[in-house]
Amino acid sequence: MEKLEQIKEYAKELNLNHLRINADKIIEEADLKDYSYQDILIKILKNEIELKDKKAYERRLKYAGFPVIKNIEDFDLNFQRSITQKQINRLLEMEWIDRIYNLIFLGPPGVGKTHLAISLGYKAVELGYKVSFVTMDNLMHSLKTQEISRKSKGKMNRILSSSLVIIDELGYLPISREEANLFFQLISTLHEQASIIITSNKGLEDWTELLGDPALTTAVLDRITYRCELFNMTGKSYRLEHRKSLF
Ligand code: ADP
Ligand code: MG
Repeated sequence: MEKLEQIKEYAKELNLNHLRINADKIIEEADLKDYSYQDILIKILKNEIELKDKKAYERRLKYAGFPVIKNIEDFDLNFQRSITQKQINRLLEMEWIDRIYNLIFLGPPGVGKTHLAISLGYKAVELGYKVSFVTMDNLMHSLKTQEISRKSKGKMNRILSSSLVIIDELGYLPISREEANLFFQLISTLHEQASIIITSNKGLEDWTELLGDPALTTAVLDRITYRCELFNMTGKSYRLEHRKSLF
């Protein structure tokens, strides 16, 4: 076997995908630029690490399941005045995820709750955290069907192995007794092992009505708010203020 073929074979066996694909180019370049043995080895190893990091990042981003990508840099703090640049900077340090703190964003539609949640989650993915985004509605579906649906089971497994779980839109759709119980069980499991972001259009005082049972609501709130930062977001709807018109 030719040496180049041999290199590619070995690279394949060791999952060195960059080398497998680029062996010819690397050797050519090394010849041309007269690289030292050390330089070549460093180049090969560095390329391999970079490719692995890139692949892992892409996998994390896919698994996070963001409906759209939102950037924190595009969030206009002059429009949404309930949160300060200093608070944003602090959140971007991600220490709250390391220390398993939760975030709650409350407020009426259009004030930027989902934007903030996604953009923080997106930054967390970039920094290497495993993140899962799910709407309350989808979460309920996955919880209820995980025994009969492999897709739901997969989704739940991803949620349970994440460092940050974003639950969007608590309070928009009614929740049954069974669903409230499943939700409580999930929060009980998650609250020691992952940060949770919850966005809701309902104030905490309205969660009892939402979850249907005062004792259960207290238990849920107890766990979520034990280590938690709460943001009451007020103001006008960004959507309404920046309504796009065709004419
Ligand atoms: P909510 O989840 O509170 O209903 P969203 O986060 O979905 O609101 O915001 C609605 C739309 O307005 C989104 O497209 C979002 O990117 C945009 N938006 C909301 N607040 C801001 C803001 N302060 N700066 C820039 N865009 C914003
Ligand atoms: Mg929203």
